Amino acid sequence: MTRVIGLTGGIGSGKSTVSRYLAELGAIVIDSDKVGHEFFKPHTGAWREVVSAFGQQILTSEGEIDRQKLGKIVFDNQEALLRLNQIMHPRMKELVKTQLDEYRRQGVDVVVLEAAVLIEANWLSNVDEVWVVAASESTVLKRLKEQRGLKEEQILARIRSQLSNEERIKYADAVIYNDGDLDAVRETVRELWQNLHQ
Ligand code: ATP
Repeated sequence: MTRVIGLTGGIGSGKSTVSRYLAELGAIVIDSDKVGHEFFKPHTGAWREVVSAFGQQILTSEGEIDRQKLGKIVFDNQEALLRLNQIMHPRMKELVKTQLDEYRRQGVDVVVLEAAVLIEANWLSNVDEVWVVAASESTVLKRLKEQRGLKEEQILARIRSQLSNEERIKYADAVIYNDGDLDAVRETVRELWQNLHQ
């Protein structure tokens, strides 16, 4: 039977890093960010709703939704973020469900659904267990400043717009603490993978 793991965590906590290690171990990974991108293509239903909510200024010259421009609007404005989420999350949940059903049909062993919004968007019914990646605020600030060149206040605004680690951990079947180095997190992932296959 296919096991579906919902992998979540705050901005910069290490979700993609953990997903990469799980993929190396043999999991199929669905990146929900990429699922969202499907709906940013011109003239889909979601595209139309997003443009009517936020205006033409969020489009690229090709008419696609520009995620950076949209990001600037919603991460400063809780109401705008809610509006965007109302448009995107139900559609993404539906598409993810279709993909998961297909993997289940194929008999894939482990599928990882990487989703920052797993809990907030109420996608828990799509997964069999929840793994939370948690890094402290100071670790996230350091990594994202150094590795992505983000400013402290941008990072803090994003952290504040999301659930806290404590709240996420309430839903967790496993917690991957990621304040150590890459070898440490890789080892934690390897142990969890082994537990799954005992
Ligand atoms: P986002 O929320 O933006 O999608 P994320 O949760 O997927 O981020 P990653 O992209 O995996 O997080 O990690 C954020 C940054 O921190 C990346 O540049 C990654 O290489 C780095 N990183 C993650 N874990 C570690 C670690 N244990 N040691 C050093 N760097 C790390």
